[in-house]
Amino acid sequence: MPPNPDEIARFLDELCAYVHDLNQWGQVADYIPELASIDPAQFGIAVALPDGRILRSGQADVGFSIQSISKVFSLACVLGRIGEQVWNRVGREPSGDRFDSILLLEQEKGRPRNPFINAGALVVTDELLTGRTPAQALSEVMNFIRATAEDDDIHIDKAVALSEAETGHRNTALAHYLRSFGNLHNAPELTLGTYFHQCAIEMTCMQLARAGRFLAHLPGAPKMLSPAKVRRINALMMTCGHYDGSGNFAFRVGMPAKSGVGGGLLVIAPGKASIGIWSPGLDAWGNSQIGTLAAERLAEFTGWSVFG
Ligand code: GLU
Repeated sequence: MPPNPDEIARFLDELCAYVHDLNQWGQVADYIPELASIDPAQFGIAVALPDGRILRSGQADVGFSIQSISKVFSLACVLGRIGEQVWNRVGREPSGDRFDSILLLEQEKGRPRNPFINAGALVVTDELLTGRTPAQALSEVMNFIRATAEDDDIHIDKAVALSEAETGHRNTALAHYLRSFGNLHNAPELTLGTYFHQCAIEMTCMQLARAGRFLAHLPGAPKMLSPAKVRRINALMMTCGHYDGSGNFAFRVGMPAKSGVGGGLLVIAPGKASIGIWSPGLDAWGNSQIGTLAAERLAEFTGWSVFG
């Protein structure tokens, strides 16, 4: 018998106590100065269920920088806008390489391997920007997230965006490199500015769990995209959601998910739950160390897995 919501709620509190006892938090991302001073010893989790309840434990109401989790929402906007045409500009294969690899882009002649590595996300943001100003493109992503979370109190942390813009030399290099291959249609500084602001969206675990309900096909979730497009996004989250740690995450957790260097995780248990997790310390691949462990333990406890 799968556990009932009350049992899951108790488990989340035990999990929260367990990770604090374990005290192995990982390292916060220090290449974005604004994120470097965050205390890694923090943990929150929220689990949105089909009956509309959201179970929570720990710091589930603390805002954090969603960073690369935003790539799920920008891809959703672009898929909604131009559909399959997006694959003319970006691939759908796991990279097996660092999230900001320049080497890969050279080898693939400017067509990024997938939309979740930085080069691929820059192309998606560039597509979002086409025919719009950066403010309009950002509004489109923000409106999407606010609609799917059914919460207007979601904002961009400008200090984080500025901090990344000042130090984002690798992303700047990637954008110019894409442009040299003809796969960046807007001025690199405009695409980069939009991308840095999109990454600097701040959300809580509660908001993230609500925002992911459309991906889990939960009853009552706002209808954001067709079921076929949702399936595609879940497939990409499963195969590419954790950079070169994607295979390991699929092996340990068995559910589509997307990480961000702010320590957030959006995990999707199709038909069962949408899960927001945050713990800012990262592992060697740049994924939340305790967040991954928590997702693994929750999957074991509930039996939630796309692999049966
Ligand atoms: N804004 C970050 C970057 O481009 C996102 C990386 C991530 O969250 O994995 O470096």
